[in-house]
Amino acid sequence: MFLEDVIIEGFKSFSIKTEMGFQPGISVIVGNNGVGKSNILDAIVWALGENDLGRLRCLDRQELFFAGSENCPPAQRVSVELRFRHEKGAATPGLNIRRELERNGPDRFFLDDHACSPDQVSKTLAAHRLHQSLKTIVRQERINDLLLVDPDERLEMVCALLKLPSTAGFDASLQNAIDETFRRYMLHLVPDGAVALKLISHNGRRGIDLVITLPGNRTRKAHQLSGGEKAVASLALKLALFRQLENPFFLLDEVEPSLDYSHHKSMQAFLKAVATDTQLIMITHLRSTIELADTLHGVRTRWDGSSFMKFYFDMDERLLRLYKCC
Ligand code: ATP
Ligand code: MG
Repeated sequence: MFLEDVIIEGFKSFSIKTEMGFQPGISVIVGNNGVGKSNILDAIVWALGENDLGRLRCLDRQELFFAGSENCPPAQRVSVELRFRHEKGAATPGLNIRRELERNGPDRFFLDDHACSPDQVSKTLAAHRLHQSLKTIVRQERINDLLLVDPDERLEMVCALLKLPSTAGFDASLQNAIDETFRRYMLHLVPDGAVALKLISHNGRRGIDLVITLPGNRTRKAHQLSGGEKAVASLALKLALFRQLENPFFLLDEVEPSLDYSHHKSMQAFLKAVATDTQLIMITHLRSTIELADTLHGVRTRWDGSSFMKFYFDMDERLLRLYKCC
């Protein structure tokens, strides 16, 4: 299954109804700082049932509503619809989920236009193997979070991500499976590097230790890495963890700004390989990332201060050349 359409109305910076259509492969959302790119990810996770305002980057539920501008009144209603489809050839129908909220009014979910409870949405997502969709997201502000903590806290974060009932559930076979993928992904990203994910005992508590060896045989702890090295190791680790969740799409919000040319090229090849069996929706403002796109979506700010989709392209060689020239 893949996420085919996202329709946003009244949510954060999107005042009027805005539709964006995606395809399997890599969709790249581009736009300058502050145009509303990350708000699209917030809208997707909110529609999937996210209720944690912190994770939606809000302090108050009123902040989910378009706040209004000099030329556009505040939104009184928020609606986000997600349409999932099977890839060509599948006989089974897709799935439409809509979440609506009114100021001081009810929070409502709809499945294929029928009102339903949040519980029914969770069950339907599980039946379509989409129940891990809230997890497979790399947030721009949190790309390095797993590298910056102590081993015991890292283990707790990993267990929370994998929805294990307790840290005891992270056993040797799970560790081996994640370690194997992490090593493989890191080799893709840094061909002369190596990593290891180890279960250790730290201050009397179980924890996950990461040992990272960079070209030149420089072995480092995660927190000692440079900004770009952290971004690369973190991407390899997060995507290795996401593999365990078996969700059909990953959302990546500006994972690459700190990468130099060679790391960026390796990351492009790596993400192309990941996208052979997983839909990637990537946010960027780097032109070089556009080379990855199967579809390109341009977000801009309208004259009235709200966000809109200015363009959509199915990318091909000719368009890529044109885009690079402008
Ligand atoms: P960057 O590249 O810097 O990460 P972005 O395109 O990801 O930028 P967003 O984080 O999506 O930007 O935010 C875009 C804008 O949305 C911000 O200017 C913010 O003020 C605005 N915004 C957030 N909440 C609301 C709201 N409730 N109503 C109107 N605008 C909002
Ligand atoms: Mg952003």
